[in-house]
Amino acid sequence: PRVKFVHEILQIMRNPEQVRNIGIIAHVDHGKTTTTDSLLAAAGIISRKVAGEALAMDFLSVEQQRGITVKAANISLYHEYQGKPYVINLVDTPGHVDFSGKVTRSLRMIDGAIVVVDAVEGVMPQTETVLRQALEERVRPILFINKVDRLIKELKYTPQQIMQRFVEIIKEVNSLIELYGEAPYKDQWKIDPKKGNVAFGSARDKWGFTVPMAEKKGIKFSDVIEAYNKGKEAVEEFAAKVAPLHEALLDMVVKFIPDPRTAQRYRIPKIWRGDMNSEIAKAMMEADPNAPVVFVVADMRLDPKIRRLVATGRIFAGTLRPGVEVWLVNAKKKQRILQVSIYMGPDREVVDEIPAGNIAAALGLDEARAGETVVDLSLKDTMAPFERLRYVSEPVVTVAIEPKNPRDLPKLIEALKLLSIEDPNLVVKINQETGEYLLSGMGPLHIEIALWSLKENFGLEVKTSPPIVVYRETIRAKSQVFEGKSPNKHNKLYISVEPLDEKTIELIQKGVITDDMDPRERAKILRDEAGWDYDEAKRIWAIDENINVFVDKTTGVQHLREVKDTLIQGFRLAMKEGPLAKEPVRGIKVILHDAIIHEDPAHRGPAQLFPALRNAIYAGMLTARPTLLEPLQKLDIRVPHEYVSNVIAVITKRRGKIINMIDMGMVMRIIAEVPVSESFDLAAELRSASAGRAFWGTEFSRWAPVPENLLMEIVKKIRERKGLPPEPPKPEDFIEQY
Ligand code: GDP
Repeated sequence: PRVKFVHEILQIMRNPEQVRNIGIIAHVDHGKTTTTDSLLAAAGIISRKVAGEALAMDFLSVEQQRGITVKAANISLYHEYQGKPYVINLVDTPGHVDFSGKVTRSLRMIDGAIVVVDAVEGVMPQTETVLRQALEERVRPILFINKVDRLIKELKYTPQQIMQRFVEIIKEVNSLIELYGEAPYKDQWKIDPKKGNVAFGSARDKWGFTVPMAEKKGIKFSDVIEAYNKGKEAVEEFAAKVAPLHEALLDMVVKFIPDPRTAQRYRIPKIWRGDMNSEIAKAMMEADPNAPVVFVVADMRLDPKIRRLVATGRIFAGTLRPGVEVWLVNAKKKQRILQVSIYMGPDREVVDEIPAGNIAAALGLDEARAGETVVDLSLKDTMAPFERLRYVSEPVVTVAIEPKNPRDLPKLIEALKLLSIEDPNLVVKINQETGEYLLSGMGPLHIEIALWSLKENFGLEVKTSPPIVVYRETIRAKSQVFEGKSPNKHNKLYISVEPLDEKTIELIQKGVITDDMDPRERAKILRDEAGWDYDEAKRIWAIDENINVFVDKTTGVQHLREVKDTLIQGFRLAMKEGPLAKEPVRGIKVILHDAIIHEDPAHRGPAQLFPALRNAIYAGMLTARPTLLEPLQKLDIRVPHEYVSNVIAVITKRRGKIINMIDMGMVMRIIAEVPVSESFDLAAELRSASAGRAFWGTEFSRWAPVPENLLMEIVKKIRERKGLPPEPPKPEDFIEQY
């Protein structure tokens, strides 16, 4: 690796034209790690300190580097193209989208992506899902067709057959760009071998080239085949002297991926929802280093060596400096940046300042979570965040977890805390009654990965309970108005409930509508986009984390203002556990029509108002066709034709539905939805039904009502598990009970 010094790298970073921010997108096993390793080995920037150590050891072993690539949030590479030096920041992009938010967040950091596709397997579900998201974020794709050695050695393809295979893959990638890209970018971004935005090669054997590179160097495919026929040394020589992979890929990056300034001009309007006429919008579109700083955190993780949280993110405007106080827009907190550093290869080097357009790491932002927008204090009251705090960390699966060795408990608690900081969609709770630790995630796979990380990163062996599916309670009709009386009978609340419409649910889920936004702005959006009555929308009191809305429709009620906060708290509490099975309530509107509030504060405290509110809400819900919602998982399967009927049988047996089937030539693509509760050992069954030939990806799909004939059975099971009487309460239980 080339030895570079911090000041040289910083010098390059000052000129946005010499910077590129990219990611690698690949279906699992297509070669993302191997490609990253080969880039790092060839173009990793090694600082003086590390170079000294490296000399002492002679070289950094590939094993060491492999360990690093898995852990680094970002890797900075050095590359010379046409005599000019470049810094290429390679941001870690997760391969699957089980955890909403994480992929999008890392895509916001990058302007382009190398899409790695296995030459034998072709485009697979995860390639498509992440490529779609990339295009939606205006991230420009370039293509690397990997594992070409397999076409040569395993399949013994002729050069013509190899070309034919490339044409097929390029065609498929282009059809995805056509489908998911937006004009005018998608036309400019189509893959064209002649232009050189596709490379062919082998990450394992470290060679690769583009068509223009082959023309310039006089490389023919028969040369590659010949090298493989000759043996390992000939391939190594071809990789080292004729067609090094890093050269092909990094040349492509410099040539086709826009620099940060160019990219921010068209990406800011897409990825930021603030006022495009504001000063800060202009500063971000110009990546102006002299503007107030805007730093968006993509990744929070613990540096085990210094035991501190490191925030890695992209500077969209201004210059990041240590010692400066900044504002955390989502956390609504002030914090001081203690240290800033740049990545040198996978390591961090402390620096005095880093200008806009770059990827940087900061210490001191311990209150930030991935997705946070960190800004100069002058922007405190005006800055719109890049990503609002989401309501949906919608955990759908929970396991109880304990260490195999009881002495590891403190370590487990610490590890779980850090995991939930790194991934805000993992939720850790303690069950007060049993003292158990409960880990909830977005799907079975999400939990599996978290458990893997406990073992791999923290050396923790754990025992887990069988996974429990989390349901939601909702209603399908409007209720009449119910009276809720306080235990002392001095307060009366008149309340009805009704289902929230899909559009409103979507606006809340996406963070367009939030609890803490300006009521007038919120009412306008609800009126224009979800058909609400403006005056009603303006009187929304609260929106809770499970997407329920509390509206005040009263007029002239005395003392209502004094108890408003108590009522809102009571609403939030009632929504945490519904009447059917004490599962969280989702998607309802609670309307307060009228109230009688006692004049003496001593008689209208939480102990009086909470039960009054809850009883009226629960009575309403139980008369409004209550039901459970269950989480559905989306499956995207590719399977050879002869196994299609087997796979369909597995899906239908598990209450699954086929949504779409597409003939892809060699394989059939099946898109299906299966309830999470029915999908725990699905992987094993799919494998055996297809003799191991099916590939698939999963992601959370949506909440759907459980079938009517199963409702009571499921309700009973949940209640029994929670130690409740098996029969759910009746509306009468909540009225006239005092
Ligand atoms: P990732 O899951 O996308 O990170 O994939 P990896 O880089 O871990 O690669 C998955 C498997 O494919 C590993 O066993 C690699 O050794 C292998 N692999 C990666 N690149 C190549 C290649 O160019 N040729 C061959 N034959 N195998 C490769």
